[in-house]
Amino acid sequence: MFINQKVYCAEWKLSICIYQNKAYLQVKGTIMSLKSPEQKSGHLVLPGERLGVIEEFIPDSGTFEKNGVIYSKIVGRALLDLQNRRVSVYPVVEGVVVPKVGTVVIGQIGNAQSDNVLVRIFRIGKKKLSGNFGGILHVSDVSDRYVDQISDAVKPGDIVKAKVISDKNQVFHLSTNDKGLGIVYAFCSRCSTLLAEEHYDLKCPKCGNVERRKLAPDYGKEEI
Ligand SMILES: [Zn+2]
Repeated sequence: MFINQKVYCAEWKLSICIYQNKAYLQVKGTIMSLKSPEQKSGHLVLPGERLGVIEEFIPDSGTFEKNGVIYSKIVGRALLDLQNRRVSVYPVVEGVVVPKVGTVVIGQIGNAQSDNVLVRIFRIGKKKLSGNFGGILHVSDVSDRYVDQISDAVKPGDIVKAKVISDKNQVFHLSTNDKGLGIVYAFCSRCSTLLAEEHYDLKCPKCGNVERRKLAPDYGKEEI
Protein backbone atom coordinates (compact mmCIF):
# COMPACT_ATOMS: atom_id res chain seq x y z
CA MET A 1 0.00 0.00 0.00
CA PHE A 2 1.38 3.39 -0.92
CA ILE A 3 0.93 5.76 1.96
CA ASN A 4 0.94 9.43 1.04
CA GLN A 5 1.44 10.63 4.55
CA LYS A 6 2.10 8.88 7.82
CA VAL A 7 2.55 10.18 11.32
CA TYR A 8 3.56 7.97 14.20
CA CYS A 9 3.11 8.95 17.79
CA ALA A 10 4.92 6.79 20.34
CA GLU A 11 3.01 8.34 23.23
CA TRP A 12 -0.33 7.33 21.70
CA LYS A 13 1.15 4.15 20.14
CA LEU A 14 -0.54 4.66 16.80
CA SER A 15 0.01 6.06 13.35
CA ILE A 16 -2.40 8.01 11.22
CA CYS A 17 -1.90 7.22 7.54
CA ILE A 18 -3.41 9.15 4.69
CA TYR A 19 -3.97 7.00 1.62
CA GLN A 20 -5.96 8.11 -1.42
CA ASN A 21 -7.68 10.85 0.57
CA LYS A 22 -8.82 8.46 3.29
CA ALA A 23 -7.43 8.31 6.80
CA TYR A 24 -6.38 5.03 8.38
CA LEU A 25 -5.18 4.21 11.85
CA GLN A 26 -2.21 1.93 12.26
CA VAL A 27 -2.11 0.24 15.67
CA LYS A 28 0.75 -2.21 16.37
CA GLY A 29 1.23 -2.88 12.66
CA THR A 30 -2.46 -3.37 11.85
CA ILE A 31 -3.98 -0.86 9.48
CA MET A 32 -7.58 -0.04 10.35
CA SER A 33 -9.93 1.81 8.10
CA LEU A 34 -11.24 5.06 9.46
CA LYS A 35 -14.08 5.18 6.97
CA SER A 36 -16.37 4.69 9.90
CA PRO A 37 -16.32 8.27 11.02
CA GLU A 38 -19.81 8.31 9.69
CA GLN A 39 -19.81 11.73 11.28
CA LYS A 40 -17.11 14.30 10.84
CA SER A 41 -15.71 16.12 13.87
CA GLY A 42 -17.77 19.22 14.47
CA HIS A 43 -20.86 18.02 12.60
CA LEU A 44 -24.24 18.70 14.15
CA VAL A 45 -25.98 15.47 15.17
CA LEU A 46 -29.43 14.63 16.52
CA PRO A 47 -30.45 12.20 19.27
CA GLY A 48 -30.35 8.63 17.90
CA GLU A 49 -28.03 9.56 15.06
CA ARG A 50 -25.43 6.88 14.27
CA LEU A 51 -21.83 7.91 15.09
CA GLY A 52 -19.83 4.74 14.49
CA VAL A 53 -19.20 1.26 15.85
CA ILE A 54 -17.45 0.09 19.03
CA GLU A 55 -14.73 -1.74 17.06
CA GLU A 56 -13.41 1.67 16.09
CA PHE A 57 -14.47 4.04 18.85
CA ILE A 58 -15.06 4.09 22.58
CA PRO A 59 -18.40 5.77 23.30
CA ASP A 60 -17.90 8.83 25.53
CA SER A 61 -20.10 11.62 26.93
CA GLY A 62 -23.31 12.43 25.05
CA THR A 63 -23.47 9.02 23.38
CA PHE A 64 -24.94 5.59 23.98
CA GLU A 65 -24.21 2.17 22.56
CA LYS A 66 -26.67 -0.44 21.38
CA ASN A 67 -25.72 -3.73 19.69
CA GLY A 68 -22.22 -2.45 18.98
CA VAL A 69 -23.38 0.75 17.33
CA ILE A 70 -22.73 4.16 18.91
CA TYR A 71 -25.50 6.78 18.74
CA SER A 72 -25.86 10.36 19.89
CA LYS A 73 -27.94 10.91 23.01
CA ILE A 74 -28.36 14.64 22.53
CA VAL A 75 -28.42 17.47 20.02
CA GLY A 76 -24.83 18.53 19.68
CA ARG A 77 -21.59 18.39 17.79
CA ALA A 78 -19.87 15.06 17.24
CA LEU A 79 -16.23 15.03 18.30
CA LEU A 80 -13.94 12.26 17.09
CA ASP A 81 -10.77 11.94 19.11
CA LEU A 82 -8.51 9.91 16.83
CA GLN A 83 -5.67 9.60 19.35
CA ASN A 84 -7.78 8.01 22.05
CA ARG A 85 -10.34 6.58 19.61
CA ARG A 86 -13.20 8.15 21.52
CA VAL A 87 -16.37 9.60 20.15
CA SER A 88 -18.40 12.10 22.12
CA VAL A 89 -21.13 14.63 21.48
CA TYR A 90 -20.89 18.09 22.97
CA PRO A 91 -24.21 19.83 23.58
CA VAL A 92 -24.92 22.78 21.35
CA VAL A 93 -24.53 25.69 23.69
CA GLU A 94 -22.93 29.01 23.07
CA GLY A 95 -19.20 29.05 23.59
CA VAL A 96 -18.46 25.47 22.54
CA VAL A 97 -15.61 25.68 20.09
CA VAL A 98 -14.07 23.24 17.65
CA PRO A 99 -11.18 23.99 15.29
CA LYS A 100 -12.26 25.27 11.89
CA VAL A 101 -10.34 26.03 8.72
CA GLY A 102 -8.87 29.52 9.07
CA THR A 103 -8.84 29.66 12.87
CA VAL A 104 -5.68 30.24 14.89
CA VAL A 105 -5.04 27.58 17.50
CA ILE A 106 -2.55 26.97 20.30
CA GLY A 107 -1.14 23.50 20.79
CA GLN A 108 1.77 21.46 22.02
CA ILE A 109 4.16 19.74 19.64
CA GLY A 110 4.11 15.97 19.99
CA ASN A 111 6.27 13.35 18.34
CA ALA A 112 8.34 14.46 15.37
CA GLN A 113 9.11 12.58 12.18
CA SER A 114 11.53 13.92 9.59
CA ASP A 115 8.83 15.87 7.76
CA ASN A 116 5.93 16.36 10.16
CA VAL A 117 4.84 16.58 13.78
CA LEU A 118 1.65 15.89 15.68
CA VAL A 119 0.16 18.83 17.56
CA ARG A 120 -2.17 18.53 20.52
CA ILE A 121 -4.53 21.48 20.06
CA PHE A 122 -5.85 22.84 23.37
CA ARG A 123 -6.93 26.38 22.60
CA ILE A 124 -8.71 28.19 19.80
CA GLY A 125 -8.21 31.94 19.85
CA LYS A 126 -8.90 32.95 23.46
CA LYS A 127 -11.05 29.91 24.22
CA LYS A 128 -9.76 26.80 25.95
CA LEU A 129 -11.17 23.62 24.47
CA SER A 130 -13.37 21.20 26.30
CA GLY A 131 -11.50 18.32 24.64
CA ASN A 132 -8.21 17.92 22.86
CA PHE A 133 -7.87 17.77 19.11
CA GLY A 134 -5.01 16.29 17.15
CA GLY A 135 -3.40 18.24 14.35
CA ILE A 136 -0.54 17.71 11.93
CA LEU A 137 2.09 20.26 10.97
CA HIS A 138 3.99 19.34 7.81
CA VAL A 139 7.51 20.64 7.12
CA SER A 140 6.32 22.45 3.97
CA ASP A 141 3.82 24.50 6.03
CA VAL A 142 6.26 25.64 8.74
CA SER A 143 7.87 28.68 7.13
CA ASP A 144 8.24 30.57 3.84
CA ARG A 145 11.95 29.78 4.12
CA TYR A 146 13.24 26.33 3.23
CA VAL A 147 13.22 24.01 6.23
CA ASP A 148 15.18 20.79 5.77
CA GLN A 149 14.16 18.89 8.90
CA ILE A 150 11.07 19.89 10.82
CA SER A 151 13.08 19.51 14.04
CA ASP A 152 15.13 22.55 12.90
CA ALA A 153 12.01 24.68 13.39
CA VAL A 154 9.83 23.02 16.04
CA LYS A 155 10.58 20.44 18.73
CA PRO A 156 8.43 18.10 20.86
CA GLY A 157 7.15 19.92 23.95
CA ASP A 158 7.14 23.36 22.32
CA ILE A 159 3.95 25.42 22.41
CA VAL A 160 2.94 26.58 18.96
CA LYS A 161 0.54 29.14 17.54
CA ALA A 162 -0.73 27.83 14.19
CA LYS A 163 -3.54 28.22 11.72
CA VAL A 164 -5.88 25.42 10.60
CA ILE A 165 -5.49 25.18 6.81
CA SER A 166 -7.51 22.01 6.18
CA ASP A 167 -9.65 19.45 7.99
CA LYS A 168 -9.44 16.87 5.24
CA ASN A 169 -9.75 13.22 6.34
CA GLN A 170 -10.84 14.30 9.84
CA VAL A 171 -7.31 15.54 10.53
CA PHE A 172 -6.58 19.18 11.28
CA HIS A 173 -3.71 20.26 9.04
CA LEU A 174 -1.85 23.22 10.53
CA SER A 175 0.45 25.93 9.21
CA THR A 176 2.87 28.33 10.88
CA ASN A 177 3.82 29.95 7.57
CA ASP A 178 2.82 33.46 8.49
CA LYS A 179 4.53 36.38 10.25
CA GLY A 180 2.23 36.14 13.27
CA LEU A 181 2.56 32.38 13.74
CA GLY A 182 5.18 30.00 15.13
CA ILE A 183 6.56 28.79 18.42
CA VAL A 184 5.47 30.83 21.47
CA TYR A 185 7.26 28.78 24.14
CA ALA A 186 10.23 26.45 23.69
CA PHE A 187 12.28 24.37 26.08
CA CYS A 188 15.99 23.59 26.19
CA SER A 189 16.86 20.25 24.54
CA ARG A 190 19.55 19.66 27.16
CA CYS A 191 17.94 20.71 30.45
CA SER A 192 14.24 21.43 29.63
CA THR A 193 14.44 25.04 30.92
CA LEU A 194 12.21 27.58 29.17
CA LEU A 195 14.35 29.24 26.50
CA ALA A 196 14.71 33.03 26.33
CA GLU A 197 14.70 34.95 23.04
CA GLU A 198 18.04 36.52 22.18
CA HIS A 199 18.83 38.15 18.82
CA TYR A 200 16.44 35.97 16.77
CA ASP A 201 17.79 32.84 18.48
CA LEU A 202 16.81 31.16 21.71
CA LYS A 203 19.20 30.82 24.62
CA CYS A 204 18.91 28.67 27.71
CA PRO A 205 19.29 30.90 30.80
CA LYS A 206 20.50 27.87 32.79
CA CYS A 207 23.00 25.97 30.62
CA GLY A 208 23.70 28.52 27.84
CA ASN A 209 22.55 26.20 25.04
CA VAL A 210 21.56 28.14 21.89
CA GLU A 211 18.70 26.79 19.76
CA ARG A 212 16.63 27.87 16.81
CA ARG A 213 12.90 27.70 16.10
CA LYS A 214 10.34 29.22 13.74
CA LEU A 215 9.35 31.87 16.26
CA ALA A 216 6.11 33.80 16.59
CA PRO A 217 6.65 37.55 17.14
CA ASP A 218 5.06 37.31 20.58
CA TYR A 219 7.40 34.55 21.79
CA GLY A 220 7.17 34.20 25.57
CA LYS A 221 4.18 36.52 25.83
CA GLU A 222 1.30 34.38 24.61
CA GLU A 223 -1.22 33.51 27.30
CA ILE A 224 -1.79 29.75 27.41
ZN1 LIG B 1 19.52 24.32 29.09
